[in-house]
Amino acid sequence: MITLVPLLVPRSAQALPLGPGPAVITFDMQKAVTTAALFDRDGIMRGLSRGPSPLLDGETSVGEAAMLQVEDRTTQFARDFPEVTPTAIGLIGPGVVDDAEGIAILSADLRWANVPYKRLAERRLKLPSSFSSDARAAGEAEFQLGAARPYNNVVVLRLGERIASTLYVDGRMHGGGGFAGGLGHTIVDPNGRRCACGSHGCLQTVASTGAIVDCYAELSAEANVTIDEVFARARRGDQTASLVWATALDAVTLVISQIAAVLAPEAVVISGGLAATGDEFFLPLRHRVNALLSFHRRPALLPSMFDGNAALVGAALRARAIAA
Ligand SMILES: [Zn+2]
Repeated sequence: MITLVPLLVPRSAQALPLGPGPAVITFDMQKAVTTAALFDRDGIMRGLSRGPSPLLDGETSVGEAAMLQVEDRTTQFARDFPEVTPTAIGLIGPGVVDDAEGIAILSADLRWANVPYKRLAERRLKLPSSFSSDARAAGEAEFQLGAARPYNNVVVLRLGERIASTLYVDGRMHGGGGFAGGLGHTIVDPNGRRCACGSHGCLQTVASTGAIVDCYAELSAEANVTIDEVFARARRGDQTASLVWATALDAVTLVISQIAAVLAPEAVVISGGLAATGDEFFLPLRHRVNALLSFHRRPALLPSMFDGNAALVGAALRARAIAA
C-alpha cells in the first residue's frame, strides 16, 4: 500500500471560508495523486496529505485498494491531530458519479466501473461517508462559498488536466443523472484529435493542460516541455506556443458562447491551470467571447476563489451534510 505523505497546509488553504460545523476528512482521488485533508470544527484545514493513488496489484480490487489508503490516512490523522474528532468522510473522484448512491459509475482514467465507494468507506471506517463527483464538489464550494455565490444561473468550469463543469440553473444544480456538465467532451472539431472518451476533437483534446503540452510537443518536435514552459514561451512570442495557446483559447471561447446561448448563465467561474495564469487568460478570453456573442446574455468570466482547493472544500461540505 502507498502511504499518503503529510504536507504543510498552505496559508491560502487555512483561510478557506468553510466556517463552523462538524469535523470531517476528505479524499480527492485522482488518476495519479490522492489528496487527503482534515477539517476541524471551525472549518480550518488542519492536515493535508498527498501521495500516489493506489495501483491495481492484481489481487486487491481497485475499491479495496483505495479504501486501505483511506483507512491508513484516517488513522494517521487521528494520531497527528488527537484533538480533532471527524464525524464523517467525504470522498470525491472524477468521471461519471452517482452522488446520491455514492457509486463511481465510470472513470476510464482510474478504471473504475460501478465501484460503491460510499458503502465501502462506511463499512471500513464506521463513519457516515459520501462519494461524489469532484467537479460537482468544486462547483458546490464555489456556489455556496466562492465566486459563484451571487448568481442563480452560473457555470463552474475547471480547465486543468481534465475539463469538467457544474451547472446551476435557477439556483439549483443540474446533474442530469451524473452526466451533465461534461464540457470537456463537447466537440469543438469533429476532425480533431482522438479523445480518451472515444470521440474526436473534444474540448479536452485542445484545451486541457495535457493536450496543450501534447500539441506543443507534436508541432515543435520537442518533447518534455512542461505546461508552464509552454505558457512562458507563448509570453516570449514563440510562434508555436502562441498558436497552441490561441487554439486552446478559441476552443474555450466557442464552448462558452454555446453555453451562453443554451443556458444564459450570469457568470462562468473558471479554475485550473489555464485560469491560474490570471489576466493572460481572462483578458483575451473576455475579448474573444464578447466578439462572438450578439444578443445573448453576456456572462461575467471570473476566476475561482479557491486556489485549487475548491473540490476538497466541496467534499467537506458534502461530508458535513451527512455528519453524525
Ligand atoms: Zn472526449
